[in-house]
Formats: sequence, structure tokens, C-alpha cells
Amino acid sequence: MISEPGSQVMYVEDEERLAQLTAAYLTSHGLQVTVVRNGGEAVAEALRLRPDVILLDLMLPGIDGLEACRRLRARLDTPVIIVTAHGEESDRVVGLEGGADDYLVKPFSSRELLARIRAQARRARGQIGPSGQAIVVGALRIEPLSMQVTLEGRTLGLTTYEFALLRSLAERAGQVLTREQLMDLVKGSADEAFDRSIDVHISHLRQKLGDDPRNPRPAQDGARRRLPAGLRPLIS
Ligand code: CA
Repeated sequence: MISEPGSQVMYVEDEERLAQLTAAYLTSHGLQVTVVRNGGEAVAEALRLRPDVILLDLMLPGIDGLEACRRLRARLDTPVIIVTAHGEESDRVVGLEGGADDYLVKPFSSRELLARIRAQARRARGQIGPSGQAIVVGALRIEPLSMQVTLEGRTLGLTTYEFALLRSLAERAGQVLTREQLMDLVKGSADEAFDRSIDVHISHLRQKLGDDPRNPRPAQDGARRRLPAGLRPLIS
């Protein structure tokens, strides 16, 4: 992985020991870390520091992490990773809907935290795309910054290439694209080499979306998941 020296991280955390240990680890990997102790100071400090990434604890004295996240979102585009002891799916959904870009449950691995910070810092620098807006096509929701895709609320595990492909399709839902146009759109937005034809990637993507017309696959709950109508003609 490419090192991102100088990335500035603002960590909003009231647990002294966790804040110190985490800051020490991140600092030893070339990041600059500023710890903020409460949610009320988060916005003012973020405006002052202009960090590349904000780590935000959910349970904070004063205003909680979700409210702090909303206030940050109103003023800044900085990626926010929520770190919390809560592990419920509802917390995760609430966190992401509250404007967070990623979500990490305590106790988290320091390496994973570092990887996620670096990923967010890279995306914030525009290597994935300038827009952090979710792309929604029917029941399909694509979060460009966190690279999360859900279909009817269920998270899909996509490769980087499949993500880039699906995003390109979803951004142009309703248009018909040629294979060559698709390849041009996806080129450069994924690290994966072009070792297989785009047809194979599309086939995998369709399987993950549960939408192979030749071999309809019932979902776990017995209902057949279907690709949102806007995307259907594009990859048929
Ligand atoms: Ca806390």
C-alpha cells in the first residue's frame, strides 16, 4: 500500500488511553493526529485543522458522535469514520445515514483503522471521484466514498473492479452503453488489471446482484432479488 505521509487525522475521543494508544500507532505510521476530547469542539477544531480524515467516537460527553457528524457534514466534506463500541446493524446504518463515510467497531485492529484512514484520505484527494453523494437506483444504493453497495438494504461484497463497473452503470442509469464505452469509463478507476474480459466481470456482478435471467437464483428468503429496472437494460 502506498504510504500517505502527512495525512492529518482529527480523532474525537473521550477515552484517554484509547486515544493515546491509537494516536501513537497512527503517528508511528506517518500520520499527524490531533485528539479532541468532546463532540462540542469537533466542528471548530475541524475548521481550524482542516484534517484529511476525521475519526469520531459515537459516545461522547456533551453532544454525541452522530450529532457531531451532522454538524461536521453541514460545514465540511472531510471523510468521517465513526468508531464506536456499538456493533448493531442499526447503529451502522444510522452512522452512515448521519453522513459518516465509514464505520469501525471497537475493539478495532490498528492495522484496519490505518488502512481505512488511508483509503478515505485517497478518496478525499479525488482519486476515486469528486462526489461523495450516494447513488441510488431503485433498491440499489452505492456509497462512493466508503465503496459500500447495498441492494434492498443488504450489503454486497464487490471487488474494486465490480464496484467501479456498477458505479459507472448506476451513474448513467437509463442510458445504453457500448462495451467499449464501459471499458473506457471503468479504466483507471480500479487497481485490478484487465486480466479478464469485461463480460466476465459483468457476469460476476450480475450473480452478486442476483439477476441472471438464464439461471434465476432464489435469495435466502425465497424472494428473487432483481436488478433495479434502470440498470437492467444496460447489462442484459
Ligand atoms: Ca466514548
